Amino acid sequence: MKTHYINGQFTSGHSKDAIAVDNPATGDVIEHVALGTAEDIDAAVQAAKAAFESWKRVSASERAELLHEVSRKIRAHAHQITELLTREEGKPVSENEEEVVWTYSTFDYYAELGRHSRGRVIPSTEDGVLNMVIKEPYGVVGCIVPWNYPLLLLAWKVAPALAAGNTVVIKPSELTPLTTLLLCEVAFDHLPPGVVNVVTGDGQTGEALVRHPDVPMIAFTGSLSTGQKIASIAAPMMKKTHFELGGKDAFVIADDADPELAARAVAYAALINAGQVCTSTERVYVPKPLASRFTDNLVDLVRSLNLGDGLDPETDIGPMIGDKYRQKVVDHIADAKAKGARVLVGGGVPNRRGYFHEPTVLADVNHSMKVMTEETFGPVIPLMTYTDFDEAIRLTNDSIYGLGACLYTSDAKKVRRFFEDVKAGTIWINDPLTDNYAGPFGGMKYTGGGRELGEEGLDEFRETKHVHWDIEARPKPWWLPYHKKQPQ
Ligand code: NAD
Repeated sequence: MKTHYINGQFTSGHSKDAIAVDNPATGDVIEHVALGTAEDIDAAVQAAKAAFESWKRVSASERAELLHEVSRKIRAHAHQITELLTREEGKPVSENEEEVVWTYSTFDYYAELGRHSRGRVIPSTEDGVLNMVIKEPYGVVGCIVPWNYPLLLLAWKVAPALAAGNTVVIKPSELTPLTTLLLCEVAFDHLPPGVVNVVTGDGQTGEALVRHPDVPMIAFTGSLSTGQKIASIAAPMMKKTHFELGGKDAFVIADDADPELAARAVAYAALINAGQVCTSTERVYVPKPLASRFTDNLVDLVRSLNLGDGLDPETDIGPMIGDKYRQKVVDHIADAKAKGARVLVGGGVPNRRGYFHEPTVLADVNHSMKVMTEETFGPVIPLMTYTDFDEAIRLTNDSIYGLGACLYTSDAKKVRRFFEDVKAGTIWINDPLTDNYAGPFGGMKYTGGGRELGEEGLDEFRETKHVHWDIEARPKPWWLPYHKKQPQ
């Protein structure tokens, strides 16, 4: 059984209970991890709190070197990490290779940003006074991570948190804790003990971290319902919260688009990681005159894709993460069919081991269906036609979520209209789901307002303090008592 990582040591913790971690491509158990308790969380928080006192005083340059070393070590073990990530998460190995690159590069990016981004000196109120805006760390940050990109989403939190001078307690998803523990073994081991701690466990373990009085900030990526629970606990304690929640991203095809290229872009945006990306395309809007050519291209492409184990290099689409998640896809398709949708390709669960679902294209959908309103988080592409661009924008905004939105067009006027009027944190034109280390990533509306990556992603982990300093310590004419003029 794999154990927690607290104060630089692997430790079995207080509970005898374990969580089985399975391979979604087969359903076979690959390992067990400890089920963390509130006592384990407390031990990790105390270690992080003690380490914070010295970590916050480490110079930015020295911290940068230590973070670059994390990156170098991840890179040196990239093959081993990628293989384990594929076995615990399921997506094709080429996608996991990309995730590992993103993980180590994020440590490099924040190593450098943390080295130079330090606050500012502002104009003073009078001569001899110094006014400074200082950026300082919160202290112990609780990082709660989901399963779909367990390392990338860890890096987007842990790298800026450490660069800003915080220490962290990570609670990985119960479905994908193994690669996080592997990072402790091969990449975090040179950091001072207590700077990075990991407690494995389930939602209750995560809740103990949220409730802990010595954790002033929670950085959370996961579902809306869990985010709402965390918010209800953290708000009365006035904790800083950083939320990256669900999405229901739209992809609008404009009437000038090449139907073959647009179909390839949509298939990628909807089916990467079997549709289990927060920014997966989950709604596609096609202009009526283009609908039949676009749909034919998309259906042919989806029909040609190989479903399989992520470790097989021939695989295009891997399994879903688990039966509960697959059941939601089955439920959404059934609801759509009952309300008049047609299945153009796929639509079912194949007869094989593991948690596979066929990539599916649905036509004749509308906004009364769950597949167009709730997060599906699976390999389903619902197609809806529109009449004019105003309608496409209105439909795009008709969602409680506001994470990302995609458009395919070469018409600059439509591009401008789209990025000005669509309420979403990222707008992709003709290049869906491509992230940029320097570009802030996050959502609006019920997706939550947290931002990761870019300078904003560092600032999330820093408090702002204003220092007003009269260097000469002179008395002020406006001080009490008012009735007697003070000598200057
Ligand atoms: P989830 O909410 O079920 O779990 C996320 C994490 O929270 C896990 O580590 C889990 O153990 C923990 N948790 C569960 N209950 C908790 C509680 N009461 N208190 C504290 N922690 C608790 O989400 P998931 O199924 O792992 O991930 C899928 C979701 O994540 C989707 O909704 C997806 O859209 C979202 N997501 C969002 C982004 C983004 O950047 N916006 C990125 C990736 C995934």
